[in-house]
Amino acid sequence: MAADAASTVYPPEQARNAEALEAGRVLFAGPCDFVAGATTADAIPPDSLPEVAFAGRSNVGKSSLLNALTGRTTLARVSNTPGRTRQLNFFSLGGKLMLVDLPGYGYAEAPKHEIARWSELMRLYLKGRASLRRTLLLVDARLGLKPIDDPLMAMLDQSAVSFQLVLTKTDKLSAKGLAQRLETLATALNGHVAAHPAIHATSAQAGTGIAELRAELATLATAA
Ligand code: GDP
Repeated sequence: MAADAASTVYPPEQARNAEALEAGRVLFAGPCDFVAGATTADAIPPDSLPEVAFAGRSNVGKSSLLNALTGRTTLARVSNTPGRTRQLNFFSLGGKLMLVDLPGYGYAEAPKHEIARWSELMRLYLKGRASLRRTLLLVDARLGLKPIDDPLMAMLDQSAVSFQLVLTKTDKLSAKGLAQRLETLATALNGHVAAHPAIHATSAQAGTGIAELRAELATLATAA
């Protein structure tokens, strides 16, 4: 199936209706408060709200996407502060949904013990996190999935945590290039039991796909 150029969701029939888009807009227009930063499993706050985690290799555009979704320019700066980059940051979206900024992986210069620490922290977080509704796995549209993403996908499959691919920086690709990328990724998801079938294509810079992603995440929030 060819990707619909007008849709930022693949396959396009997974796109949300106007009502869902409005629910997403309202949810993300509300307050977004920093709740906690955790560098160790002990410091992870107890389950409270439904949770969505944002994951991806470093430099994938995670901070930019979080800022674009929440309409803030500084939200994800917390996670970019030197020395705090390896922590999980929890943000409450109006008391209805917890956004969790997971530490980026794949620094070329990361020492082995750092990688081992990241893996252990991720494993402990993902294992038995009852409130975790979904993990968004961010993928640079130009690069696609790389072997560096495999350990996280394996962890998500093993912990049966539903994960969804979100392409970033789509402004850097032509419509044809993007359509090809989406088809390749949809095929790559075949072997992954925990993969959500809809892929979101976004550009934090151009604002593309942001409203759709907000609508998707609003379906996971508490109604209260
Ligand atoms: P993080 O390390 O995953 O948090 O990534 P950042 O959000 O800091 O972004 C990494 C780099 O990608 C920065 O140079 C951003 O300006 C750039 N970037 C992020 N989002 C976009 C986008 O939508 N389009 C383009 N062209 N560049 C982006």
